[in-house]
This record gives sequence, structure tokens and C-alpha cells, in this order.
Amino acid sequence: MIAHLRTALYLATAAVPVLPLRDGKVPFGNCRACAKNACGGRPNMKRAGTCRCTAPCHAWAAATTDRAVVTSPLWTAAWERAVCVGYHPGGAGLTVVDLDNAAAVAWAREVLPATRTVLTTRGQHWVYRGVMPSHNAVRPGVDVKSLMSYARWLGPGTGRITDLPDAVRALAVKEDTTPAPGEVVSSLPERATWDRTVATGCRHTESYVRTGLERGLALVRARTESGAGSQAFGVARFLASQHAHCPGPCGLDTIGEEIVAAAILVGVPEAYARRAVANGLETAVERAA
Ligand SMILES: [Zn+2]
Ligand SMILES: [Zn+2]
Ligand SMILES: [Zn+2]
Repeated sequence: MIAHLRTALYLATAAVPVLPLRDGKVPFGNCRACAKNACGGRPNMKRAGTCRCTAPCHAWAAATTDRAVVTSPLWTAAWERAVCVGYHPGGAGLTVVDLDNAAAVAWAREVLPATRTVLTTRGQHWVYRGVMPSHNAVRPGVDVKSLMSYARWLGPGTGRITDLPDAVRALAVKEDTTPAPGEVVSSLPERATWDRTVATGCRHTESYVRTGLERGLALVRARTESGAGSQAFGVARFLASQHAHCPGPCGLDTIGEEIVAAAILVGVPEAYARRAVANGLETAVERAA
């Protein structure tokens, strides 16, 4: 469709690498020479090859800002059959948090800083400035699309774009959470328990803090191997944000220790658990500041 080509050219001019997407909103299959990566792949792929194929082959790796390529006969034929325009967020210096449904959007509103949003069929894309490795299914209904992936172009969206936050980077922590085979969790940090004595400057009641903490720990414990690291981040951040207006101290270190211990128990390596929780506590403080 010529409208897709026009959109693609507009994006290419704005330094956003584009590619046509066919029925099913997926990239076109490789040409015969590139089928099953027989060509070895393009130079920008993870396993770099020397493919210089001028067709829209190799999915996101074909995305380009080159007008001559975008308007070439091979690509024009693809635009004519395309159902929409795709782009390579990482190539444009962007990260798209793809929220598939209303529940995912509600989660993002609670946990992620506001940024430019684009409506999708059933959910939203939240677009941040900055790149990171892409990760699918970081949570139910949530994909992170940046380097080496493509997203559907659904218009410029609304709202001011903001910098890629740690909260999104932390979603990728789950990739690291499965202990290497043979690696045994040998030690647990000393058991820390939050109580009133460590929180002399907290304006909340003991039961309020305790209930929030137990709920957060339950969320972390409910995760097995994957996702527990990012869950720990989210819980730390959420609990710390409850104390944004307390004079302090609120015993946040102790709360952090409890979250770390819960994450380790479900298989998160201690170093990652500590980093995720420290990031979560810090991010909450930064946002409150
Ligand atoms: Zn090809
Ligand atoms: Zn190829
Ligand atoms: Zn407090």
C-alpha cells in the first residue's frame, strides 16, 4: 500500500529505520538466497555475516533509513503487500515497552515513569529515549523492544518522551536470575526483620508497613527463577515510595534485606538480588526527590 511507503519515507527522513510488515504483523520472509540464513546474515546481526541482500530480508536487521532502499523495486513490492510499517526502536535510539493489555498498562502506570505513549489494538506502547537489549515476556503481557527487534509503527503517540529509566532496565534482570548449573545457593544473608525499633522516623503504623512488606515478599516468593529479580526491584521500589514523605529513618535497609532474602530463596543469585533491590530503593527515592 502506497500509504505505508509514504509513512516509511517520513520515518526514514526522521532517522527511524523502517521495514515492511506483512499479514500477521511480522516481517517478510527471507528471499531464496537468504532462506534459513544461508547467506550468513547481515553485518548488524548478532552473528554477523556479509549479506548485502537488497530485499527486506532478515527481519529487524533489514530496517533502514536509506531512501534508495526503501523505494527500490523489491521493497516497493513488499510495501504493496504490507499491512503496516515496522521500525527498529534500537536503531532510532529508542526503547518500546509493549504493553499488550489493560492489566499490563495498569501495571506500567503504577511502576514506570510516564513517557510518550502510543495506543495499540488492546494496549499501549510506552516509548523511552535510550537503548537496551530487547526482552520478550518480562512480565505477563509486557515485551521490551529496543536493540535487535522491531515494533509496529502506530503513529507518533502523545506525551513528552523521557529517558529510559532503571525501572525498565531492571525488567531485563530476569535474564540473569537462573543460577548456572552446579551453582548452589550456599549462604543466605543474616535474617533481618523489620520492626518499629529500626524505624524511629516513620509516620506509618507498624501494621501498615508490616502488611505491605508481607504482600511484597509474597509477590517475590510467587516467582520461580524467572522474573523474581525484577519483581524484587518492583517491590523494593513500591515499598520505598510509601515512605517518600516520612521524615525517616524508616528502616528501609531492613526492608531491603528481607526482599533480598526472599528473592534468593526462589533462586535469584545474591548479587543480582542485591542490585535489583538497591536499584528499586534508589529509584523510589529519586522519584520522590
Ligand atoms: Zn535476501
Ligand atoms: Zn541475507
Ligand atoms: Zn516511613
